[in-house]
Amino acid sequence: MDFSPNIQKLSPSATIAVSTLARKLKAQGRDIINLSAGEPDFPTPDWIAQAAIRGIRDGRTGYTPAPGLPELREAVARDMETRSRGGWAVEPESVVVTCGAKQALFNACFALFGKGDQVLVASPYWTSYPQMVGLAGAEANFVKGPEERGFKLSPEELEAASGPRTRGLILCSPSNPTGAVYTRDELAAVARWARDRGIWLISDEIYRRIVFSESEGEMAAGLMDLEPGEVGPHVVVDGVSKCFAMTGWRIGFAVTSPEVADKLSALQSHSTSNAATPSQMAALEAFTHPERADASVAEMLEAFRRRRDLTAEAIRTRLPHLSIIEPQGAFYLFIRVDSEFQDGMADSQEWCSQVLEETGVALVPGVAFGDDRYVRLSYATSDDLLTEAVRRLAEEREG
Ligand code: PMP
Ligand code: GLU
Repeated sequence: MDFSPNIQKLSPSATIAVSTLARKLKAQGRDIINLSAGEPDFPTPDWIAQAAIRGIRDGRTGYTPAPGLPELREAVARDMETRSRGGWAVEPESVVVTCGAKQALFNACFALFGKGDQVLVASPYWTSYPQMVGLAGAEANFVKGPEERGFKLSPEELEAASGPRTRGLILCSPSNPTGAVYTRDELAAVARWARDRGIWLISDEIYRRIVFSESEGEMAAGLMDLEPGEVGPHVVVDGVSKCFAMTGWRIGFAVTSPEVADKLSALQSHSTSNAATPSQMAALEAFTHPERADASVAEMLEAFRRRRDLTAEAIRTRLPHLSIIEPQGAFYLFIRVDSEFQDGMADSQEWCSQVLEETGVALVPGVAFGDDRYVRLSYATSDDLLTEAVRRLAEEREG
């Protein structure tokens, strides 16, 4: 069948494909431990969920303006402004509420890039970025920092990878899949480089609150922690999916200049219109009760920290030949497994298929994130399942 050139290079999301396969095998009765999808296993905090239920009962079930409920845009702007360590003023007109952070990223790529453009994508990357760039007609150009720096980028690598057609850079900190977190200074160096080159910086900050710093309640550095003068044209992307365990509610947002926000909104007005209204009511509750929100995040963060430590320690002890990037944020372990590649099993995809077949543990091949030597494990699941998963991997190797 002939499809349009729009989707000629499109492939389905690998993260979603593996977790769908894991669910299917489980439904068939297989004993599967699914560590593939990046999805917190907690329920949405009840006080947030109740706001949506109240909204539905109060008849908040119609359309909202395409860029979101005015009071939600206002609340997100206030929250960004209050938390900004760079003294930014954020107007509600700069905020576009979207159907998940995914749509904010897609809208930004579609609105800002096109045919002939190259977009730098910090690698290892979240699997959807290159596809989004491709859907916009542009070309992704992957750029990697040194492995021993957790692949984090500096202006040197960026400069070496860029050329006259470079129009943008997509960066994710804390990173999916590595868990690496840019310090304020590292982020500032990258932001100043993008500013000086006059290219768009799309900063995916969806895991910003999931960071294991020493000082409690501190978020990972984001663009708005820099001085406004350090940042050129930009789109900050964030949302509620990860930090409030709200993946199914589909609420994200883009924060940018009012002029760009207008375009993102116009694009959305012709595709999905507004994000689901009851979901916006729930997000509004979260953003208008920052102290309560912080307490809910802190509770989940404690569990993520414990799970990170126990999984990393179990891998170090029981599978010492596999190395891991020490994650400082998000909820993934990026594990280097190429020391196990041998005849008949030469890449991360085959490694993951074999492990799924023999142990029932579902992981995502690193090739989906731009590094075929690695696999990704999501530790957003129970302590018991994580312990059991490492036990199975180790015992299968011991024979
Ligand atoms: N960015 C990154 C780095 C992610 O891991 C995800 C996970 N889904 C998203 C964006 C999209 O988030 P959402 O579910 O809010 O669309
Ligand atoms: N972002 C998550 C992941 O990387 C959820 C799945 C997806 O949307 O890709 O696994």
